Amino acid sequence: MQKLTIVIPAYNEQEVLKDTVPRLWSIEREVVTQNFLSEDSDMLIVDDGSSDNTWSIIESFHKQHSKIRGLRFSRNFGHQAALIAGLTEAIKTTNMTITIDADLQDDPEKIMEMVQAYSAGADIVYGVRTHRETDSWFKRTTAQGYYKLLRLLGVQMVPNHADFRLMSKRAAQTLLTYPERNMFIRGLIPKLGFQTAKVYYRRTPRLAGESKYPLKKMLAFAWDGITSLTIAPVRLILLLGTLAVMLAFGMSVYSIIVKVLGLTVHGWSSLMVSLWFLGGLQMMSLGVIGEYIGKMMTEVKGRPRYTIQTRLD
Ligand code: UDP
Ligand code: MG
Repeated sequence: MQKLTIVIPAYNEQEVLKDTVPRLWSIEREVVTQNFLSEDSDMLIVDDGSSDNTWSIIESFHKQHSKIRGLRFSRNFGHQAALIAGLTEAIKTTNMTITIDADLQDDPEKIMEMVQAYSAGADIVYGVRTHRETDSWFKRTTAQGYYKLLRLLGVQMVPNHADFRLMSKRAAQTLLTYPERNMFIRGLIPKLGFQTAKVYYRRTPRLAGESKYPLKKMLAFAWDGITSLTIAPVRLILLLGTLAVMLAFGMSVYSIIVKVLGLTVHGWSSLMVSLWFLGGLQMMSLGVIGEYIGKMMTEVKGRPRYTIQTRLD
């Protein structure tokens, strides 16, 4: 029988957990019965170093139901770390995991569809939001611009998907073979392969409390995404440097003409040519060095070269 584990990262979520946990618990029971899943299906709440009553709330739920489990970090390590910890712990015993935020901005009713998609053969089921009008204008536009930029830089991502996702055991196991420290999970999932499916939902406002992603954390997260997923910015330097050097040649021709025609002051031509040429050369060199650093980055990450889905032997 298939076992489901719902993984919930929680950082200072005392205002919402008392509603989140019972709601998810009852949805999970229903999903378990309707899809003939194992009665052992459980829930794992990862307390990401909260300073409020989050942990004692988790403890009291655990006392009521042993299947509501908790993990507590020694300090705040961040949302992505909490998800990774939850997955690592969950796949020891489970067949599928569903990660969902504690504030229930993602529609928990869609868990049913996710499990059905899993039963139909999907290893990864993406929760995709069709509407996010409840997020602030600022958050929506910056997020949209950011994902456009990532796509421009060659990073493949599922649009409008965050971390509301079902993963089969083997998909989660594969993700965990990526040994890098900086995990921008939603950017890594499309790299895993396997059969995927999507369920669509409307994003709703936070149940209570405030966003645990203030601007500063959001910017750090966004920057992490770019720098851990692509070395395109370095290539941009190389490209710009090469362009500048090419321009320097044009500049040489131009300044010689200007000089021959006597249209300029003494020294201008040599200054312009060396300026463009040296500047371009420096930028090109930086780009080349950067390319090697980029290669080192991918080597250091030590990602698996391939993932086998099935074998017949
Ligand atoms: N979260 C976490 N650690 C952090 C920040 C957030 O575990 O350092 C959790 C938080 O409790 C929530 C989820 O990550 O379950 C998403 O955070 P939030 O809803 O505040 O982000 P937003 O929806 O505003 O982007
Ligand atoms: Mg939220």
